Amino acid sequence: MKYVMIRRTILVMLLVVAIRDVSAAPKTEKLRIVTTTTDLKSIAQAIGGEKVAVSSIATGYENPHYVQAKPSFMMLARKADLWIRVGLELEIGYEELIIDGSRNRAIRIGKPGHLDASEKVLRLEVPKTKVTRELGDVHPQGNPHYWLDPLNARIVAGSITKRLAKLSPENAKAFEKNLTAFQKALDERMFGVKLVEKIGGGKLWAMELKGTLDEYLAARKLTGELGGWLAVMRPLKGSKIITHHRSWSYFVNRFGLIVAAELEPKPGVPPSGAHLLKVMKLAKARSVGVILMEPAYSRKAADLVARKTGAAVVVCAISVNGQKEAADYLTLIDMIINRVSKAAGK
Ligand SMILES: [Zn+2]
Repeated sequence: MKYVMIRRTILVMLLVVAIRDVSAAPKTEKLRIVTTTTDLKSIAQAIGGEKVAVSSIATGYENPHYVQAKPSFMMLARKADLWIRVGLELEIGYEELIIDGSRNRAIRIGKPGHLDASEKVLRLEVPKTKVTRELGDVHPQGNPHYWLDPLNARIVAGSITKRLAKLSPENAKAFEKNLTAFQKALDERMFGVKLVEKIGGGKLWAMELKGTLDEYLAARKLTGELGGWLAVMRPLKGSKIITHHRSWSYFVNRFGLIVAAELEPKPGVPPSGAHLLKVMKLAKARSVGVILMEPAYSRKAADLVARKTGAAVVVCAISVNGQKEAADYLTLIDMIINRVSKAAGK
């Protein structure tokens, strides 16, 4: 009798343990995130930490406008809890095909499992007139290459945090903590450690946006304390550059450079001989020192203009993993600042 009781008790205990295990399983499983670009992957990884598993559709090398909707991407999307896109029509050629092909209802546009990272970013080049194909590859909601402004990366990190907390409320605190760490690291890269410690990242960004930062620092004799990306780029303010594609607008706008001309006659339209002649004249007249282009484009046009004008060609990726130094979002911007400042400073 006694033995039977004990055996029963053990059986019940085992059952309870087994049931607990089953109910606990989904919570220990990572949230599966699929992003369209490697930059979004890097930011999502920084916020999600060990609670998420992130994959990116694009590799970082290719032209982000033209990614093929491969079946393997649909398989990846099928198991995703969250899909994150750059938006502003950057992915117009492949996003819908992949999401439809995945048959995953949870990540359809408008569902909590679909996040458009552009929702809150600062946009440039929003057309005021109707967009026609004649203008080239112009996006009606604005230029989609917004991730090259570090402020926009900071904003995107906030949007991702909010959405992750909604999908996985039990981890909300961890995501918030990761957001604080990411933003602090980004602010320190932007303004230098000293100023962030003294003034705070939020206040520095607010002044940078209003255009009052230099004045504020000068009035308090803090100009010399400015560090980071801004300190490197400040002496180059007003420098004129040529870009291949209109993918550098946000970077140029944040760091005060001027795009004097583009090698593409219209966004997405390859350079023509007649257009390049105009670009060369302009480059000489406005003493342009740098031609900035992504590795995905042919160097031919840039090299030709460089030979005729003496400008230096800087080949620089615009996405994480596009070149080996760009291992994550912060090192991507490090690399761009490094290459551009070296070439422009000559
Ligand atoms: Zn573009």
